[in-house]
Amino acid sequence: MGDRIRGSAGVKARRRRLARTGGLCEICAARGRVTLATAVDHVHPLALGGEDVDENTRNLCSNCHRDVTAEQFGFEKVSGCDASGLPVDPDHPWNRHGPTTPQAKD
Ligand SMILES: [Zn+2]
Repeated sequence: MGDRIRGSAGVKARRRRLARTGGLCEICAARGRVTLATAVDHVHPLALGGEDVDENTRNLCSNCHRDVTAEQFGFEKVSGCDASGLPVDPDHPWNRHGPTTPQAKD
């Protein structure tokens, strides 16, 4: 099981990863569209044993990120919150590991 990089190191890793594509969505770029990436997605999800390394990430806009997350986890293509009131987006701040809000997930 991969460990997500935490705290300020995680912020730096996110900036470094986004810079690889000039901050643009990789899936949109492959389709000839220029869209600002809003998420650093794990190609092999951490929850499924993926590692939190640059090579396992790609930069996606919110639309593409929602689509690939739905494919990876078999969710319906929805945004917002699940039945327990938590955001369904795994990169939502509430779902990230933070120094003050450790979670057992991942
Ligand atoms: Zn996109």
